[in-house]
Amino acid sequence: MTHMEWIENKSLLRHNTFGMDVYARWFTEVQSEDALRNTLARAGDIKSPLFILGGGSNILFTKNVDGLVLLNAIPGMDVVQEDEQFVWVKAGAGVRWHQLVEYCIEHGYAGIENLALIPGNTGAAPMQNIGAYGVEIKNVFHCLTAMDVQDQLMHTMYADDCAFGYRESRFKREWKNKYVITSVTLKLNKKPDYNISYGAIARELENMGVKDLSIRAVADAVIKIRTGKLPDPAVIGNAGSFFKNPEVSADTFHALQEKHQDIVGYILETGRVKLAAGWLIEHCGPAEGVSWKGYRKGDAGCHALQALVLVNHAHASGTDIFELSNRIIESVQQTFGVALEREVNVY
Ligand code: FAD
Ligand code: NAP
Repeated sequence: MTHMEWIENKSLLRHNTFGMDVYARWFTEVQSEDALRNTLARAGDIKSPLFILGGGSNILFTKNVDGLVLLNAIPGMDVVQEDEQFVWVKAGAGVRWHQLVEYCIEHGYAGIENLALIPGNTGAAPMQNIGAYGVEIKNVFHCLTAMDVQDQLMHTMYADDCAFGYRESRFKREWKNKYVITSVTLKLNKKPDYNISYGAIARELENMGVKDLSIRAVADAVIKIRTGKLPDPAVIGNAGSFFKNPEVSADTFHALQEKHQDIVGYILETGRVKLAAGWLIEHCGPAEGVSWKGYRKGDAGCHALQALVLVNHAHASGTDIFELSNRIIESVQQTFGVALEREVNVY
């Protein structure tokens, strides 16, 4: 595809992991900053609304996109700086995140091995400060470059600019659709400082018979746990965790513990408690004595192995999934008095 080719009425079925068969009024793919600049200028000239797309693994489409869907496919992976202990790796927004993880493992650069197998592209990773197994991208983030949609000027943003939080950043809030992220630079460690504090990783490493820790071994453990537990979007539509884990005060947590002895919560540095949303969803349901876990209405459902993941069994619509998410939010609120917030971007 040349950089200026716009396709009219393109199905997005293959461009979102929920498998929603919605259409883009216009669709184009950019592979360079120049192509991006031209595309944004043209979209501005005709006043077309814009939707920035990566791997489509964190989005629920509930309708067609009446505007331009811009697939960011900017490539490239390079070491841009290096000293005795650290290495700075810059990757284009269009690089698949797991490809970047594999590149770092191969070269012995530590820091993102716990984030192995997260779907999607590098450009979207800062958007929600991707995280798994006790590591977030913010732990290794150096900077990113982004193009302003309005005037097509380039900017460099550092961690403080991005206001990273738990599955949050400024790009998910006030900067949504204002900037297109074009590259991300990570500061990685040549001397690994492994984080295997998540019980599941330590257990898996033991099962694998690993005696000497390595970046490869930690990533392999994560890959094994993930493939055993999470639905593969190629087989069953989903966008990973649909909800965030809610935070409550220590007092609220203790009050909940009195009623529900085995409720799962983790004490944060702030003293507040992060509740496992999956546990809350599993322990309430559509009717007395019935759990949401494994629930299905039509083709919209709640995954049988992890209640936090909503799934499209085949032909559910975005609205079916959204309505199910509403019922779950209501049910958790009524049962535990806790408000769940969606993690997935809803369009
Ligand atoms: P998309 O879904 O294409 O886009 C997501 C949002 O970012 C949209 O609002 C889009 O407009 C915006 N966006 C995309 N690219 C850019 C860009 N270049 N510039 C500006 N805005 C942009 N997430 C985790 O954090 N941890 C996990 O462990 C995890 N596990 C998952 C497991 C499964 C099976 C699935 C399906 C998803 C999982 N996710 C997880 C969610 C998802 O993979 C990540 O959020 C990922 O970073 C999304 O990348 P993407 O390229 O697919 O983004
Ligand atoms: P899990 O290991 O069954 O744990 C359930 C929840 O408890 C997780 O959400 C996790 O919170 C929290 N938790 C577990 N051990 C913890 C510890 N030692 N300290 C603090 N919190 C702890 O979860 P899972 O569903 O199999 O997922 C494993 C990891 O992959 C998690 O980090 C999860 O966030 C990540 N993941 C994310 C997505 C997504 O789409 N966002 C999808 C799949 C997996 P946290 O979520 O805060 O880590």
